[in-house]
Amino acid sequence: MHIHEVKCDQCGQWTHGKNHRCEHCGAILKEEEKKEIAVRKAKGDSIKPRFVKINEEDGWLLVIGKYVIRTGQFIFYALISFLIWITSLTIG
Ligand SMILES: [Zn+2]
Repeated sequence: MHIHEVKCDQCGQWTHGKNHRCEHCGAILKEEEKKEIAVRKAKGDSIKPRFVKINEEDGWLLVIGKYVIRTGQFIFYALISFLIWITSLTIG
């Protein structure tokens, strides 16, 4: 069974990504992290908040739950940016 396999940078062998360390040489796996950073760099928005990821294999209940969380996060960040805007208006 293949569960989320990641290729090791150090030895080039495939290992389970969930361990965060290579089974063969013990190197820390940063494959996922690197991918995310690359994507964020490409988009050019490192300041933008990170929303909950919705995976294709998630069940419908989990997807609904994640959408609720995302909506909550969106409202939260909108509120924060609004407060910053208000503060900058009153101070500056
Ligand atoms: Zn390795």
